[in-house]
Amino acid sequence: MDKLMLLGDEAIAHAGMDAGMSGIYAYPGTPSTEIMEYVQNSHRAAKENIFCQWSANEKTAMEAALGMSYTGKRSMVCMKHVGLNVAADPFMNAAITGVNGGFLIVVADDPSMHSSQNEQDSRYYGKFAMIPVLEPLNQQEAYDMVFYGFELSERYRLPVMLRITTRLAHSRSAVVPSKKIMQKQVALPADPVQFVLLPAIARRRYRGLIEMQPDLAAESESSGWNTFTDGSDKSVGYIACGLAHNYLIEAYRGKQLSNPVLRIGQYPLPEKLVEKLTAGCEKVIVLEEGYPLVEELLRGLPAVKNISGRIDGTLPRDGELNPDIVSRVLGLSANEGPPVPDVVKNRPPSFCSGCGHIDMFNALLEAIEGYGPGRVFSDIGCYTLGALPPFNAINSCVDMGASVTMAKGAADGGLHPAVSVIGDSTFTHSGMTGLLDAVNDGSPITVLIGDNSTTGMTGGQKSSATGRIEDICAGLGVEPGHIKTINPLKKHHQENVEIISRELEYKGVSVVIARRECIQVAMRRKKEEKTKN
Ligand code: SF4
Repeated sequence: MDKLMLLGDEAIAHAGMDAGMSGIYAYPGTPSTEIMEYVQNSHRAAKENIFCQWSANEKTAMEAALGMSYTGKRSMVCMKHVGLNVAADPFMNAAITGVNGGFLIVVADDPSMHSSQNEQDSRYYGKFAMIPVLEPLNQQEAYDMVFYGFELSERYRLPVMLRITTRLAHSRSAVVPSKKIMQKQVALPADPVQFVLLPAIARRRYRGLIEMQPDLAAESESSGWNTFTDGSDKSVGYIACGLAHNYLIEAYRGKQLSNPVLRIGQYPLPEKLVEKLTAGCEKVIVLEEGYPLVEELLRGLPAVKNISGRIDGTLPRDGELNPDIVSRVLGLSANEGPPVPDVVKNRPPSFCSGCGHIDMFNALLEAIEGYGPGRVFSDIGCYTLGALPPFNAINSCVDMGASVTMAKGAADGGLHPAVSVIGDSTFTHSGMTGLLDAVNDGSPITVLIGDNSTTGMTGGQKSSATGRIEDICAGLGVEPGHIKTINPLKKHHQENVEIISRELEYKGVSVVIARRECIQVAMRRKKEEKTKN
């Protein structure tokens, strides 16, 4: 077979198509976005009718993928780590309902917070839900694990999580594809009530999940993704999880590694393999990307002594690992490389020149000037850059949709005006329900929707709200007279300030839609149109 040069994300997408996946569901979020984009750009996916549309949020994506699995077909759902918080409700319950067709949940964690609000480690969610978790160490394994994950999922009728991290998702390597599996036919679940989580059924299913745990542990013990390599130097043994195994090998830079090593790529933790490693080793160092999950589990095992890792400070508690960090910890020489040139370091993010959000914030700042600071709640998108100079325009950014609900809470507490700044995609992701709460409670807020007709921050994916925001707001109960649309351009500045000022004064729920296409998307669109003509 020919080799393909693929990002980790693309390897997963390509494997999904090769493994007979019938649908992929996702909401864009760095570093997972390219998985869906790869399928969307594939002629083969279109020809084979593989469903690949963006969902409104991660919860709806998870539920739709579960629905496809219900039909007996293989489905995949992809998200970034914080997206799993949004999808946590169906995620936890899918472990109880079980699945029918193979169901793979791909979660891309972002240690070092390159583009995220936190560093949370999705392996904990896998453990929480008691489902198998796979953690590849390179792009080839990411590809191969998709096949294995679907097969494991169908064998145990359980969702399987494939957890990757930024470095793997966004680095490219040669991948050898394997055979192509045909998509499955519709075949409804053998257990007709397994998806009905009424308490009596849920209790039975939950007991079944618990009873399955020893089998899942036995799978891990014999899994080819968990390998023990013995060594003569027992002064220290290494447990290296997923990508961290590469850092360990790289730290030795071609020199013989004479210590015992347990490489972990499948969870639950293979305890017998752990005991095999620890027996005779004076000390164990755990190398893992993210939280100290394995280190914590080891500390709970009576036979395992003298554990080091991220908890005791041997390794940094936060941030990505890399070969240099691992080298230093192991007392090996680190290859620091040449210094980072000034041109690429310390470059704070900023709006693209000419972005409509600039004019939106300029109008808002002038309109709100007389009220004093601390009244603008923001959401997550390009517009969050409004927190930085020269704007210093926003006072919160917590999670998707929180701008509306935090403004509502602040208004309920007597803050006036209370303004939410949210993008069109984030609004349909999880801002709409907060707006409904505000309408129901008559909370006096102004919601400023930066409508750039796309999901700008992640690269211009389709937004569920495009062309329908006014209708959605009216449908949620906002008075039509207080749904205003402005054009955020310099030449409309004064008019925009006046409209926003009037709505800030209104003692009910108002919405101001600042509509102007993201210039990156507009440029791309115009180029495509020119190529077509
Ligand atoms: S990508 Fe689009 S929305 Fe984001 S800053 Fe640039 S122009 Fe503005």
